[in-house]
Amino acid sequence: MDFSLSDEQLQLRRSIREFAEGEIAPHVMEWDEASRFPQEIIPKLAQMGLLGVIFPEKYGGAGLGYIEYAIAIEELSRVDGSIGIIVAAHNSLCTNHIYKFGSEEQRQKYVVPLARGEKLGCWSLTEPNAGSDAGGTRTTAVRQGSDWVLNGAKTFTTNGHYADVCVAMAVTSPAQGSKGISAFVIEKGTQGFKPGKKENKLGLRASDTSEVIFSDCRLPGSQLLGTEGHGFKNSLEVLDGGRVSIAALGLGMAQGAYEAALKYAKQRKQFGQAISEFQAIQFKLADMATQIEAARLLTYQAAWLADQRDRKMTRESSMAKLYAGEVAVKVANEAVQIFGGYGFTKDYPAEKYYRDVKLCTIGEGTSEIQRMVIARQLLSSK
Ligand SMILES: Cc1cc2nc3c(=O)[nH]c(=O)nc-3n(C[C@H](O)[C@H](O)[C@H](O)COP(=O)(O)OP(=O)(O)OC[C@H]3O[C@@H](n4cnc5c(N)ncnc54)[C@H](O)[C@@H]3O)c2cc1C
Repeated sequence: MDFSLSDEQLQLRRSIREFAEGEIAPHVMEWDEASRFPQEIIPKLAQMGLLGVIFPEKYGGAGLGYIEYAIAIEELSRVDGSIGIIVAAHNSLCTNHIYKFGSEEQRQKYVVPLARGEKLGCWSLTEPNAGSDAGGTRTTAVRQGSDWVLNGAKTFTTNGHYADVCVAMAVTSPAQGSKGISAFVIEKGTQGFKPGKKENKLGLRASDTSEVIFSDCRLPGSQLLGTEGHGFKNSLEVLDGGRVSIAALGLGMAQGAYEAALKYAKQRKQFGQAISEFQAIQFKLADMATQIEAARLLTYQAAWLADQRDRKMTRESSMAKLYAGEVAVKVANEAVQIFGGYGFTKDYPAEKYYRDVKLCTIGEGTSEIQRMVIARQLLSSK
């Protein structure tokens, strides 16, 4: 068993870290305070191949795997989780849904520009009354001749206002429950399709989280994605990969919070010595570093499994997402504690990590839902 990253993977980590520290770090608080989507960063992410990490070069992607993808999300999120989630929703939700289940024509038409980063993607499953219970989707798609007409509203769509391409789930056969849900690809500018309310959030404020509204939105038959009635089933598979990215998001933010706390603990003096000399602070740092390392092992294991295309990884990706998300919350909490009163202010990075990490126990399935998924896998295995 070899736990080391290859030279190429280490180089990728170095180059993304350099980019994040040079191009993102100086603006993090400004974007957060203004709750501003950093549009100017998108072409730079595209140039680095980060908007098509996991897709083959023949579809405009970087031709890399999930390990590299986890490294990318981790390094971006170490500096700003908002950038991490923008990239994650684009890659492993929107583009990957089309790549995995789309026709060759749909791959050429959508995956290629999305993976090149010429277009931005979003993925809409959640609705106001269908969150954890996403099988309770109410948005409808009714067949009219060879067209489909969509009506309804999605909520909490990452990149909702800025995406050029949206993958959305809608009910095509109401009598069939979750087996009557299908996926559609919708282009920005399609009549009857528009983003709605932009959420004013606790954290990840530079990422856009929005409603997406369909009012008599007419789509040609070619916009059905995958087999009719397979939209929910396919979404669950898409989420298996997506959870690796949310694990990496949590891991990166935990790492950033830990590093900030470690640095501060060495500088801050009380009772005539650096607070890092106190065993109470040392034990916090030791626990934080250990939990981060355990989260990294679970995340990279799930990423490795995602790269073994024929292996099922529902259990491992849920475990990674659950554990890394909860570790991120614990680590960011301890980071604020180590910063003391300064951790409660916006002059130091701890408070932003503290707000941002909370998404990791909620998005792409809450911690409670992850435990249900894991338990189901455990109980069904022989
Ligand atoms: C910043 C952000 C970005 C997001 N991005 C996207 C996106 O791009 N696309 C998308 O489709 N969605 C997105 N989401 C939605 C996210 O996936 C949902 O918020 C999440 O799945 C939870 O759904 P809910 O908010 O409706 O909570 P609810 O389902 O209402 O849950 C409320 C509480 O009840 C608990 N609960 C629910 N059911 C059970 C149960 N059976 N057993 C025990 N406890 C239960 C939950 O764990 C939670 O604690 C995003 C959310 C946020 C906040």
